[in-house]
Amino acid sequence: MGARKSYQQQMWLDIDGESVKLLISAMQRKSMRLQINEQGEVDLRIPLGCAKNDVLAFVKANEAWLKQQRAGALQRQQQALESFSILGKEYPIQTSALDEFLVTDNQVWVPQGWNFSDVRDAMDKWLRPQARAYFQQQIDHWWPFFSRFAKQQPTLRVKKMKTRWGSLSQRGYINLNLGLMQLPPELIELVVVHELCHLKHFDHGPGFKALMSDALPDWRQREKTLQQASAKVL
Ligand SMILES: [Zn+2]
Repeated sequence: MGARKSYQQQMWLDIDGESVKLLISAMQRKSMRLQINEQGEVDLRIPLGCAKNDVLAFVKANEAWLKQQRAGALQRQQQALESFSILGKEYPIQTSALDEFLVTDNQVWVPQGWNFSDVRDAMDKWLRPQARAYFQQQIDHWWPFFSRFAKQQPTLRVKKMKTRWGSLSQRGYINLNLGLMQLPPELIELVVVHELCHLKHFDHGPGFKALMSDALPDWRQREKTLQQASAKVL
């Protein structure tokens, strides 16, 4: 091909007197794009061969936006360190003298000094088997209703997804978002039923809606609540 290779670089930015890491990725693309990642770091994508001065000018021009985005990211991190929702119930996060991560009936205990990523990673690891069992139970519960549409039950895959709660693949998989475990049971059920309805209808047309109403008469109400929750979790 002979194309120039993509590369990565780091730079430090001063935002409100604080040093913030800027991750620069040069790649085959036409324009520059700035984003804030979950750690509050700045992620900048630039076209290959882009001049350093242009990059600096671009960052400068977007400084106000960056500050605002970063403040939002830090606030979300702070909230995520205060409590965690499991099946719609809030569990306050407490620092423990023990050197282990623990979820009890009412609380989440984390070792001292853990940051946002530490807590999130431990939470994901703890949640995964719970999610697998919970989602499977939901699918089994609904299978008598949906079994007429498929030769066999779709295979469950639990995934971390940023833009969707679930999907059903033509190859026999039902993919459900790990983040669903933060939502109340009636919303998880809505997503499971929604995906299972795709066994019969591939789109969201009238047939799909009729089947949803057959299965869950109050699905529209639940969908509204899910949309509100999506802003927080996804
Ligand atoms: Zn759908």
